[in-house]
Amino acid sequence: MKTILVIEDEKDLVKLISFNLEKEGYRVLTATDGTAGLEAARSQTPDLIILDLMLPGINGIEICKILKKNEKTVRTPVIILTAKGEEIDRVVGFEVGADDYIVKPFSIRELLLRIKAILLRTTPGTPPEKILRIGAIVIDPARHLVTSEGDEIVLTTTEFKLLLNLAERPGRLQSRDVLLKNVWGYNYIGDTRTVDTHITRLRTKLGHSANLIKTVRGFGYKLEEQ
Ligand code: CA
Repeated sequence: MKTILVIEDEKDLVKLISFNLEKEGYRVLTATDGTAGLEAARSQTPDLIILDLMLPGINGIEICKILKKNEKTVRTPVIILTAKGEEIDRVVGFEVGADDYIVKPFSIRELLLRIKAILLRTTPGTPPEKILRIGAIVIDPARHLVTSEGDEIVLTTTEFKLLLNLAERPGRLQSRDVLLKNVWGYNYIGDTRTVDTHITRLRTKLGHSANLIKTVRGFGYKLEEQ
């Protein structure tokens, strides 16, 4: 049974989300302020977090940043609930690092679809055993480990899957649409900007190896040695 932590201060919305998640067979934990939410995220290790942006205590952006910087919680998927369209780039961008977002008001059905899609792509199936090497990057899929020039790079599950997707087809150009489908799944309703913001984040984390990811303008990306 998957555990979902809902951090949201609108009590009626918490009730509505909890009721529907439990009906779908999830175990639900709730927190109605930022401080309690962060504490629960750290101590309860949920499988997924639904995080409102505007919260009393610590706000959602700060919580997400803290979670995505910590080794223990970096791989926990976070779906941000936001009422503000203009903050979306920041939310899925490098600074905050959420895995997905949903704009209020939303339908419960849409939320359930997003949750299902994220849990599908972040639940380890049987990863390929083969260790991949491109330039100074070494990827060990079975151990979910990436190093660049020997230093470990801590990636979120989505970033890892994106890198693995590129590395499994070295030198092959992959369109944003194909990456969106392979990494985020068929049911994903977001747009291709999501791919760009995750590539930006991946490059920043890869440091010296960032230039192995090549942009093909207006089309997509590929990973190859110089
Ligand atoms: Ca709120």
